[in-house]
This record gives sequence, C-alpha cells and structure tokens, in this order.
Amino acid sequence: MTFDKETLQTLLNLPDIAVDRVVLGERKTLKVYVHSTLEGTNCHRCGRPIDHEYGHGQEIELRHLPLFAYTVVLILRPKRYQCHFCEGRPTTSQTLSWYTRRSRVTKAFEQQMLLELINSTLEDVSRKHAIGVDALQGILDRNMACDVDWNAIERLEVIGIDEIALKKGHRDFVVVISAYINETLHVIGLLGGPCSQAHPRPRVSLERSSI
Ligand SMILES: [Zn+2]
Repeated sequence: MTFDKETLQTLLNLPDIAVDRVVLGERKTLKVYVHSTLEGTNCHRCGRPIDHEYGHGQEIELRHLPLFAYTVVLILRPKRYQCHFCEGRPTTSQTLSWYTRRSRVTKAFEQQMLLELINSTLEDVSRKHAIGVDALQGILDRNMACDVDWNAIERLEVIGIDEIALKKGHRDFVVVISAYINETLHVIGLLGGPCSQAHPRPRVSLERSSI
C-alpha cells in the first residue's frame, strides 16, 4: 500500500508537522511517523522563547482520529531545546498545539472520546474503540481540570447537558456540557459528580454573565 504524504497530511489535519513514513501495523493500525516543522519552544523554567537545538526526546505515540477504518497512531520524537539564560542550561521538549504534554492521545481524539462518552459508560466506549478504561479516565480527568476557554466561544445557541456514567449501574457520573460551535459539536465543560475521585469539586463554572 502506498500513501501520498501530502494527502495524508491533509487528512490528519494537524498543524506544524510533516509526514515521514507510514507503516501498516497489526489490527488495521496505521503508524504515521511525523516530525515537527515548528522551530523553538519556551523554557520550562524561565518561560523565555528558546531555539538552541538539543537533539530529540524519546519517541512518543499519540492516538489520533481514525482514517477510513484504520486506527491512526502518530509517532513523533519531540525536538529538544536548551536554555542559555537559566543556570545549568536546562533543556525543554517542544510540545505541539494538538496534544497535551504526557498525553497518549491527540486533542482531537480526546474530543471525539468525550462525545462518544455522552450518555454512555467508560466500559462501552472502551470496548467500541479499543481504548483502555484508564486512558478514558485520564481524558476525563484532564478535561475536568481545564477551565472553559470562553474567548473561543462567540455565541452559544443551544447547549446540551448530558451525563457520562463512570460505571454501569452506579450513581457515579460526570455531567457533560456540549454545544455547537461553528457547526461542530464540542464538549465545552465537564462537571464532576460527587464521587469523582480525581477532582472532587467541580472546577468548571457556567455562571458567566455573557451567556
Ligand atoms: Zn530558561
């Protein structure tokens, strides 16, 4: 099987990368090896922009949205940079805008999983998409900890309030607030239920005067 790299890049729809090669793995998995085309990062210690190259970090694998019936995994070695301002010249790995540091999935995949979880259980989605319950729990925890970026939302016309059951038959759930933004359904906030372990108190507030 051959792939046109540019077509594939368009289909992946992720900024700041170029495709190096694609390997068809087991269980209909496309392993897409990519590299960053973005230069520089910010020092994790002082926050200044830095561009002194310092090799590459360990390879990371990030699950992305499926293409046709294929599971897509992106493989990337993050660029590393050294800070010449800080004592000891610490190095920082570049993190691209489409994934969260230390996450095993892309932000687009996270969004898809959150939508799949609406009125469903972690176990159901885990089975349907061959992703571990722990990974799904991690996605929920990460998104529960995030505040809503209200600046990115111009207008909210209809919002949906649904729930995710963490376990079948349990009263342990997360409330999901979703809305259509630019004609696409987005999860804009998660509210932890009383039994949510990682973030016992809801950190997302919907009380804002502009809506
Ligand atoms: Zn620094």
